[in-house]
Amino acid sequence: MASTGPHTNAYYSDSVAPTSQPVPETKKRDVSLYQFFAPGGVLSRTHPAYEFRRGQLQMAQAVEQALEEKRHLIVEAGTGTGKTLAYLVPVIRSGKRVIISTGTKNLQEQLFHKDIPFLEQALFPNGEGKLKVCYMKGRNNYLCRKKLYDLTDQPVLSGLEEIEHYRAIATWEKVTQTGDRAELASLPEASALWHKIDARSDTCLGQKCSAWDRCFITEMHRKAMESDIIIVNHHLFFADLSIKQQAEYAPDAGILPEAGAVIFDEGHELEDVAGSYFGVSVSNGRFEELCRDVEVSLQRNHMLSASLSGALKSLRERAIFFFALLPQGDGRFAFESRREFMEENGDEFLGLQQALTRLGSELENLASKPEEVFNFARRTQELQVQLGFLMESEDRNTVFWIERRRGGRDKLNVFLQATPIDVAPILKTCLFDKLECAVLTSATLAVGGSFDYMRQRLGLEHARESVLPSHFDYENQALFYVPPDLPDPRTPQFTAKAADRIRRLLEITRGRAFVLFTSYAQMNDVYQRLLGELEFPMLLQGDAPKTALLEEFRLTPHAVLFATSSFWQGVDVQGEQLSCVIIDRLPFAVPSDPVVAARVKSIDADGGNAFFQYQVPAAVITLKQGFGRLIRSLHDRGLLVLLDNRILKKQYGKVFVESLPPYRRTTDLKQVEQFFGIE
Ligand code: SF4
Repeated sequence: MASTGPHTNAYYSDSVAPTSQPVPETKKRDVSLYQFFAPGGVLSRTHPAYEFRRGQLQMAQAVEQALEEKRHLIVEAGTGTGKTLAYLVPVIRSGKRVIISTGTKNLQEQLFHKDIPFLEQALFPNGEGKLKVCYMKGRNNYLCRKKLYDLTDQPVLSGLEEIEHYRAIATWEKVTQTGDRAELASLPEASALWHKIDARSDTCLGQKCSAWDRCFITEMHRKAMESDIIIVNHHLFFADLSIKQQAEYAPDAGILPEAGAVIFDEGHELEDVAGSYFGVSVSNGRFEELCRDVEVSLQRNHMLSASLSGALKSLRERAIFFFALLPQGDGRFAFESRREFMEENGDEFLGLQQALTRLGSELENLASKPEEVFNFARRTQELQVQLGFLMESEDRNTVFWIERRRGGRDKLNVFLQATPIDVAPILKTCLFDKLECAVLTSATLAVGGSFDYMRQRLGLEHARESVLPSHFDYENQALFYVPPDLPDPRTPQFTAKAADRIRRLLEITRGRAFVLFTSYAQMNDVYQRLLGELEFPMLLQGDAPKTALLEEFRLTPHAVLFATSSFWQGVDVQGEQLSCVIIDRLPFAVPSDPVVAARVKSIDADGGNAFFQYQVPAAVITLKQGFGRLIRSLHDRGLLVLLDNRILKKQYGKVFVESLPPYRRTTDLKQVEQFFGIE
């Protein structure tokens, strides 16, 4: 937070009177939200960089009302509102168990390590109201003790590196309280060994596991059951919700306990995340993994008979053959010819299904089976059902597609995918109809001041709504420049002219910029054109991991970073170091993407207008996110550039302009120079 006091703040114009009496320490839980957030209140006396934020108080009041009235709430709160405190204070006051789900790890860590400890200290300085808080990550972040012990009995390690990692993990397992791999800084992100011993649910034996009592997941679950606040990310939340839905809400299904409310921060990401967890995915890797796990386990237990070996061999061969027959293509593409494929290759599909049946019966027939064999049988059956759905389902709300990705050691991973076209009906029944109170918040939820788009996409029918006033003085802090003379970005002449204009703009801003692109190809092309042309250090996405690049950007004077979508959100660089954000074109989702194409087709087929109801609003949210990188505090100042002048020339451009904060706008390069003091 900036250090300007409440009386010097431009947003303090309608003068909120300081509370006359300090609030007695013992009464802090009873103070009103106004007394907490207003000048002279608890926050002003406890936060080192306090300033009154009208939007923050309004948001806290809206969240408190939603919690009390058991209503849903959707609230857009721009950067600088201080929205985490605005929902945490009412959450703590409600006395309910609340799940907070976020889009990024940074925000989870901020909540757990910074905001909640601060509020505990501010509200309960004598420790009288200690909060129970649990920070949960996805299961694959935790060690599975059973798998580690099995590996100790019969190490199947490839290479010196794995042996080294194994030793480090085995030593750490004896002392760690959480089993969270984040504690093991020396373990590389892409460790192949970790993948073999993490606590993913598909390989978990549950209560029948011999290590159940000492299991890190069991411990995390127990802790969550006792917690007031549970912090998760959207992936964990929706993975859990889909497990509960599949188990028809059986009491022991899933890992997250019942909660009185769920706060979805960074809520603009929900549709994509929910879509991936309510879909189905089967890959060649899953077949390989199942065969390997069965083989290793049965070998260890001296139960690998000749007929079981035969069943595994046949399944491996059938799977390789079947995946090789799938339509060719790179990246993500629709599997439109499923019917024709099945007509031609139905025998191979049946052969693969029969190989799964054979493995299932071989496992079933094993006498005195170890517990994991039941798990293998379940995985075999799951693959059979999911493969059947992927190849034979006629579900109209599902898009079927294929993805090919290169993995390590030049391995080709092929995924058969099914994704719901419209997640709204699923979320309505599984989430919003079942929850007492859901709060959706983000800096980017509204389009042209309305939440219609978000509510329709998510199936959130009944909710209070609020767009909060900004805490920043956008008109004076940011200049928004669109060059009127550049060609349409869809034409071949665009890139050369855009690169020239970027060079000129970076000379004016003296570097200190993010240049963000909608595609890798465009990023690389412009980067190559400018290489050797700029007098400032150039950083390129992909040359180092994201966090390392950001750190280098922060530490390198006048640096310019060239990046794509992963830098459009969740990136926070305050101060002069980032004084300019340039975006190459309006960020419409790639229309040929199978999921986007299916959504467009479905809206049009229902008599809607997909361009205005889906493509434009989605691009508006993304553009707001991208430009949101620039002004991160009251003291930030800088230039925003959109090189795509369709925003001025096309009818739909108005929707973008009306949805952006009130930046000062210009089409004149001279004004850009003046903004940076060049006359
Ligand atoms: S209960 Fe599951 S995750 Fe925990 S140790 Fe056993 S198999 Fe691993």
